[in-house]
Amino acid sequence: MITFYPGPSKVYPQVADYAAEAVHQGIVSLNHRSAGFMEIVKETIQLLHQKLDIPADYHIAFVSSATECWEIVAQSLTAEASLHPHSGAFGKKWAEYAYRIKPPMNLSEADVLCIVQNETSNGTQVNMATLGQFRRDFSGLIAVDAVSSMAGVTFDWTLADVWFASVQKCFGLPAGLAVLIYSPAALRKAEEIGENAHYNSLLFIHENFSKFQTPYTPNGLGIYMLMRVLQQIPPIASVSAITKKRATDWYAFVENELTGVNGAEPRFNLLNRDAAIRSDTVIAVQGSEADIKAIKAAAQQAEITLGNGYGDWKNTTFRIANFPAITDEEIDTLKQFLKAYI
Ligand SMILES: *Cc1c(COP(=O)(O)O)cnc(C)c1O
Repeated sequence: MITFYPGPSKVYPQVADYAAEAVHQGIVSLNHRSAGFMEIVKETIQLLHQKLDIPADYHIAFVSSATECWEIVAQSLTAEASLHPHSGAFGKKWAEYAYRIKPPMNLSEADVLCIVQNETSNGTQVNMATLGQFRRDFSGLIAVDAVSSMAGVTFDWTLADVWFASVQKCFGLPAGLAVLIYSPAALRKAEEIGENAHYNSLLFIHENFSKFQTPYTPNGLGIYMLMRVLQQIPPIASVSAITKKRATDWYAFVENELTGVNGAEPRFNLLNRDAAIRSDTVIAVQGSEADIKAIKAAAQQAEITLGNGYGDWKNTTFRIANFPAITDEEIDTLKQFLKAYI
């Protein structure tokens, strides 16, 4: 079985060995305040800086999920209100979660702009030029959900103050861990607000991570596996070049092989016709409910899992993850299947 599900997604096959190592070497039984464990946290943070090219003055912490990051931004970094321009299901959910914590009373005074860089539900992305425009136009903090693009493509980190991702997408790891990155300006803002009412208040998290510790018993196995994967992967510039080339190939393939068949009314189309907003890491293909259901079932028969649609596009799209852990052979297998199916 091969999977193109955009989360949880294919994990790097080496993860099986890393998990076994963590058990055999007693890493999962280390006290999380022991020197050995703190060394792993420190090494993982250093590797994130190095492999993902994160600015040296940006801080990194580990939490449980991207959803938790949505709440941390609302509780610890939002003084008045947050703005949530969005185009899909994850952006909408983030706004709902945030507004439960900080009701949108004073939107004209909004001090945080929340952007989903890669909207996994419909395969759209906010490119760095657009993010740069937000940066010029908005004087408050910018927080970016990059769950399905971080570790897949390069970013200009300086265009936002908070970036986060859970690891079950482009990092090629099992779920249950998220990377939270925050700038010196974000930390200053947290200090000004002084919110300290939660186990995951950013100030408390920061205080712990400055000693390479965590406020609660962390997902030690997840952190260890992240460290091992980071040791294995090439620098983000190389990963990104491959991701973008594969994305260009995927879009050309869908347009030429799925859509442009013999002048007949096509059964499938790209959900996003506008190339400027198309995701590099999640390709969404649209069709009638019946056609989508049939192609997913046929793929399953061929031992290929396509991503279901999500949110408003649940029954009228399938999605193809274009994540780094997926191999060229797997992509070829899916392309052969799709060609034959059409
Ligand atoms: C998957 C996903 C999330 C949710 O991540 P969790 O780890 O389940 O909290 C949030 N935002 C985007 C864009 C996602 O793709």
